Amino acid sequence: MPETAYSPGELLALDRAHVWHPYGPMPGRTDPLIVQSASGVRLRLAEPVHGQRELVDGMSSWWSAIHGYNHPVLNEAAHSQLERMSHVMFGGLTHEPAVRLAARLVEITPEPLRHVFLCDSGSVSVEVAVKMCLQYWRSVGRPAKQRLLTWRGGYHGDTWQPMSVCDPEGGMHELWSGVLPRQIFVDAPPAGFEESYAQQLRDAVARHADELAAVIVEPVVQGAGGMRFHSPEYLRVLREACDEHGVLLIFDEIATGFGRTGALFAAEHAGVSPDVMCLGKALTGGYLTMAATLCTSRVADGISRGEVPVLAHGPTFMGNPLASAVACASIDLLLGQDWQQEVKRIEAALTQGLAPARDLPGVSDVRVLGAIGVVQLDHEVDMAAATEAAVREGVWLRPFRDLIYTMPPFVSADEDIARIARAVCAAAASG
Ligand SMILES: *Cc1c(COP(=O)(O)O)cnc(C)c1O
Repeated sequence: MPETAYSPGELLALDRAHVWHPYGPMPGRTDPLIVQSASGVRLRLAEPVHGQRELVDGMSSWWSAIHGYNHPVLNEAAHSQLERMSHVMFGGLTHEPAVRLAARLVEITPEPLRHVFLCDSGSVSVEVAVKMCLQYWRSVGRPAKQRLLTWRGGYHGDTWQPMSVCDPEGGMHELWSGVLPRQIFVDAPPAGFEESYAQQLRDAVARHADELAAVIVEPVVQGAGGMRFHSPEYLRVLREACDEHGVLLIFDEIATGFGRTGALFAAEHAGVSPDVMCLGKALTGGYLTMAATLCTSRVADGISRGEVPVLAHGPTFMGNPLASAVACASIDLLLGQDWQQEVKRIEAALTQGLAPARDLPGVSDVRVLGAIGVVQLDHEVDMAAATEAAVREGVWLRPFRDLIYTMPPFVSADEDIARIARAVCAAAASG
């Protein structure tokens, strides 16, 4: 096979004519950068852009590539699994990679999560979580409990049920507000603990308990809905309110899982466990698409005692062996090192490197938690100018709304983090 079938110009023309990109128009209006390969924390471009042929990845490919790219251990896991089988159906068949992954996930997630549904993407794992909760209540004779409660500022994916619990305003799914299932929203959580807000949470759960199947939230860090952080105390408040009023609790840890916030799972900051938990993104170290929905035995038993005693969900690529094998290797790689120390090191470097952004005009907030750094502007970011400013510093960033943010791979060296921080500041200063 020739190294490249198309010139960069031809690629971009075909891309523009035929290929949808995330949240993009058709045909595309801006040219994406062409990545030829990636290794460690660097993306290698097909041709130099603003004088840079390589960019340090400040995004971990949207939270996922925690070990960087082309990692020898993950490559080896993929190669050796590929030689056995890359996929077989999961109905009536099973295999070691999926079983090993499920057992490992049960071992490392908070008690009493015990059962694992392996699916293709984060959005699907949220669909499965919601289906589990609605079916649980149906099975135990409470079919009216079919709505969800969440707080504003959240993001849970792009398929139908997840869209219904994304922030309904200024978010990406506003267009569908009259069409989606109508869920119950409370205000976005304040950063610090406020008793009046905690009371608002308790009141909302109490008031709607008869129609609520579940509360669904992203614990501690709200990702694509606004990159906001909140006090873990609110998760304890939700756990207590849900227990008191007979409502299930779903934690969407798709972005926060696998160490990103400084705890292996963000629920640990609060010392509480949900009834259902969604994992994705960093699950396979950014290699392949896979997500997981975990639930307690109470939820599983409830479903299994119902009129339809099965969970009617079964994606074609459920439990994909290749993705499962890489996920196992990624978890072993993470837990086999002092990852807490690495995340602390990145937290300190981001705190230091992003501090100068506080003095820039137009910056309203700078915040860092674990290996996540956020600069918030008091206006909409100029995407083209901000992206160019970062690329000129040799860094890949993907700002949105009023946010310039980074969640670098855990393997980023101190110099890489310093460079990423300079790029975030340059992007923030770009207007
Ligand atoms: C990314 C994300 C999702 C959706 O995952 P996809 O794999 O993109 O479908 C859901 N919830 C949260 C918190 C996410 O960050």
